[in-house]
Amino acid sequence: MNEADSRRVGSELEKLGYHYAPSAAQADVIVINTCVVRQSAEDKAYGFTASLKPLKQGNPRRTIALMGCLVGVKGNARLKKSLPHVDVFMPPGDPGPLIDHLLEQEQLKLNAFALARRHALQDGNLVLPAHLQHNMISAHVPVVYGCNHVCSYCIIPARRGVERSRPVGDIAREVRSLVAQGVKEVTLLGQIVDRYGYDAPDGPRMPDLLRTLNDIDGLERIRFLTSHPNYMDERLLQTVADLPKVCEHIEVPIQAGHNEILAAMKRQYTVDDYRRLIDRIRHYLPQTGIATDIIVGFPGETEAHFQGTLDVLAELKLDVCHSAMYSPRPGTVSAKIMPDDVSPEEKKRRLHAVNALQETVAAEISRRYEGKSVQILVEEKHKGKWKGRTRTNKLVFFEDEQDYKGKLVDIHIEWAGPWSMRGRPVGKRPKPVPEFILSSA
Ligand code: SF4
Repeated sequence: MNEADSRRVGSELEKLGYHYAPSAAQADVIVINTCVVRQSAEDKAYGFTASLKPLKQGNPRRTIALMGCLVGVKGNARLKKSLPHVDVFMPPGDPGPLIDHLLEQEQLKLNAFALARRHALQDGNLVLPAHLQHNMISAHVPVVYGCNHVCSYCIIPARRGVERSRPVGDIAREVRSLVAQGVKEVTLLGQIVDRYGYDAPDGPRMPDLLRTLNDIDGLERIRFLTSHPNYMDERLLQTVADLPKVCEHIEVPIQAGHNEILAAMKRQYTVDDYRRLIDRIRHYLPQTGIATDIIVGFPGETEAHFQGTLDVLAELKLDVCHSAMYSPRPGTVSAKIMPDDVSPEEKKRRLHAVNALQETVAAEISRRYEGKSVQILVEEKHKGKWKGRTRTNKLVFFEDEQDYKGKLVDIHIEWAGPWSMRGRPVGKRPKPVPEFILSSA
């Protein structure tokens, strides 16, 4: 979400005539986009922003803007007081205050053309910054902002506000603009993306949005994340199964494998609900890649609770597990009323156990790909190898002299590890074995 928000700010500034500076010291405008999902991220964002003070003192005409969850939707008086060198505080995803500030300060020679373009942007006609146009094959597109849930550990509703869905036409215009600039794949974003449209009683829902985007010429693939177990209904699954451009890739967090912890987290489902969901997903989409999230060391998590998490991961055998240690966020329910009673060492041990188990599961799933052919969308060349992803979001590398960037290519998988695979384009012979190895054998 932050990547998409940063792109939006960059795009607005480019319309006003700005371009990217090689370093903060050379920039007239510095924008810091922040994440506070964990305390370490918040500390880093705060520390970096504080470290910019000498730059502001060296050039008072320089504008420093702080954006994102550190600021929050309601602003943050304490932050303003402690960071007096910051000129603008912007809520997540909203470049408006910065643009207004720049206009007011007359720091740019805004002409009528730029103003017209700004209005066009507000109408949803996004144009990418030039430096991104060259390279982007895959782009993130927010479709619903904020969240109406109240998971007890989560700061996002307080920082990103209530749920607001973007109009379908607005999103479709943005996607068409991205496609015109070379993008082949979009990932639609929302804190609970399946709740797209729920904030307008009779408005279009996620399946309707997917159908509209599926019709855009030149767009090859559509993904969406993150789902919530309570909203991934059969209509949505049937739509994913029906639409050729929507990838078989679902990100749906469970967070914990014991009902008592799920209740304390206020996740509003049980482990059995999640099991049934995975069955449903595999019924509609037998070949789908499923990713989940786990938090270890939530307040009150006993060894027995944690064993439940290991058991459910071993049972369901999901493709990916994003794991994190619980970190209390000031302002959340869990931080207010639940003692952080699992020691850091024990959290690390549990994290390690989850990761070790998942590595085994992922290796087993990947092995099924060996000897098979998969279609990948090639994103870039990385350290001499082409890199792309399958529809199920598996990372695949291959070597070849041709230019494959942005192409859909069938790859014969020769080796598959837990986190990535290697192969060669179908129809291409494997590299010959060097003769000296043959003669020494
Ligand atoms: S669903 Fe829960 S974890 Fe996800 S953003 Fe909303 S409150 Fe946070």
